[in-house]
Amino acid sequence: MSGPSSDAASRENPWRSHAARIRSIVPESPGVQTYELEFEEVLVRDSYRFAAGQFNMLYLPGIGEAAISVSSNPADRSSLAHTVRAVGNVTDALARLGLGGQVFVRGPFGTPWPVTDVIDRNVVIVAGGLGLASQRAAILFLMAERACRSVTVLHGAKRPEGLLYGREYDAWRAAGVAVHTIVNEADASWSGPVGLVTDLLTDALRDPSATTILCCGPDPMMVGVAKAAIGRGVAADDVFLSLERNMACAVAHCGLCQFGPLFVCRDGPVLPYERIADLMRIPQM
Ligand SMILES: Cc1cc2nc3c(=O)[nH]c(=O)nc-3n(C[C@H](O)[C@H](O)[C@H](O)COP(=O)(O)OP(=O)(O)OC[C@H]3O[C@@H](n4cnc5c(N)ncnc54)[C@H](O)[C@@H]3O)c2cc1C
Repeated sequence: MSGPSSDAASRENPWRSHAARIRSIVPESPGVQTYELEFEEVLVRDSYRFAAGQFNMLYLPGIGEAAISVSSNPADRSSLAHTVRAVGNVTDALARLGLGGQVFVRGPFGTPWPVTDVIDRNVVIVAGGLGLASQRAAILFLMAERACRSVTVLHGAKRPEGLLYGREYDAWRAAGVAVHTIVNEADASWSGPVGLVTDLLTDALRDPSATTILCCGPDPMMVGVAKAAIGRGVAADDVFLSLERNMACAVAHCGLCQFGPLFVCRDGPVLPYERIADLMRIPQM
């Protein structure tokens, strides 16, 4: 690795990937694990930077590459984490690697959550399922840097075991973050609310004109959140969605992630709802 930072290097040569080893594996929910990676080269380790909301392409030779959000705090240089659901070729192979396994990292890519631009804002983070992975980077950054007025996390999952990062909620709450969870289907272990994550939104929007929404999850959920928030007085350009589309090159060449005039890998994944509201109306876009 050469150059002042990995962000700069990936702009210079976005095809270049860097070898890393799996330093720890934390089970999060069935089929989902958080992998802490460490670059093999000291220079890369020292210079790599990312912003909350960006993603890396994780490459396993002979298998393929997958876009995965960085889930650790961008201000904590000692940690580089990705939370991954095993659903296919790359992610299944990653799950089989184990501690010390070698992964190649290309990135970071994409647009970040606006976490450096919310100092006087109430930030409401709305997450459906695994969407919380890229938002965890934002939560940890906002907590550590005291970069906004307040942080509220609304996290929904199909079932209780699908809620992510439960072991961290006490620390988040101790740092002043309000954490509310909801599930679609309860079981005997669950005593919290049952319903959709949008059901939690009304209580979280006490001062809509001073609120910024960061939302990540399935498209219909994000559109529902955006419409509900805007209906209650949040400005459309204060609602940010993180889009997930199949992607391959990550540098706006291959066209796989084309979304109207946008490439999700370059112009997203984080986009203000105001910019994409019309595109989100088109099924399969
Ligand atoms: C910006 C961005 C950030 C992301 N962040 C994360 C993250 O933090 N964590 C995470 O786990 N995922 C994340 N993803 C999603 C991840 O990139 C995809 O799940 C990726 O496809 C996984 O790669 P894979 O090779 O393991 O799966 P693939 O082999 O590509 O399979 C993915 C899915 O497609 C199905 N599939 C594969 N091939 C076919 C086929 N021929 N016909 C029909 N169905 C098929 C599989 O059954 C599976 O359900 C992110 C995606 C984007 C765009």
